[in-house]
Amino acid sequence: MSISQRLQDIKKRMEKICLSCGRNPDSAALVAVSKTKGEPLIREAFEAGQILFGENYVQEATAKAENLAALPISWHFIGHLQRNKARFVVRYFDLIHSVDSLRLAEEIHKQSEKISKIQNILIQVHLGGEESKAGIHPKDLQELLRNMTRLKHVCVQGLMAIPPPVENAEENRIHFKALRELMEENNAANILPAPMTILSMGMSDDFEVAMEEGATLIRIGTAIFGSRS
Ligand SMILES: *Cc1c(COP(=O)(O)O)cnc(C)c1O
Repeated sequence: MSISQRLQDIKKRMEKICLSCGRNPDSAALVAVSKTKGEPLIREAFEAGQILFGENYVQEATAKAENLAALPISWHFIGHLQRNKARFVVRYFDLIHSVDSLRLAEEIHKQSEKISKIQNILIQVHLGGEESKAGIHPKDLQELLRNMTRLKHVCVQGLMAIPPPVENAEENRIHFKALRELMEENNAANILPAPMTILSMGMSDDFEVAMEEGATLIRIGTAIFGSRS
């Protein structure tokens, strides 16, 4: 199958899930995860109508963003971000999914202020079960949000999580549900100037379950571009 066919197939599956659980089909968007994939494949996906692309590695990502600057792509940063690289990411990315500390948010604020930008971000939450140590503990989220309200060049739009790879996507349903409930609880506490609306969760093997639990951004790599070597 071509990239265009794979994209169409995923879009159809997304629409079907939306219909089956009474969601507006516009309420979820697809982030094509293009890490390790070359620019010709990104162009091909773009020409097939894909606008949002996710990247994990700062150097690779900024090179692609520069080389493809003529295309109106919206770049999302989804990988682990070190503070000393924040300034590169702020320059090119519309949304950073992986903010997991106040110190990183402060650096993003500082770099965004320099270029008069308000950087949209998500907080990465560690829900347990993941092998990676990335993400903040759910019990620490409220305090982090409180501290972030003074960072005027950072806008917290929602939450992101990476549950562990599992045999059966259903095993991750509890994690997706937990992330949605965490967002609802924190919105009810009215800490931020505006409620969070984005839930970034679900990948190639479990995005349908994630959408049933309220995902608004799904991050798909393999199912679009094939496996990574
Ligand atoms: C690589 C990656 C994805 C895409 O994973 P696939 O299983 O290839 O769809 C999604 N989210 C993050 C954070 C990733 O690093």
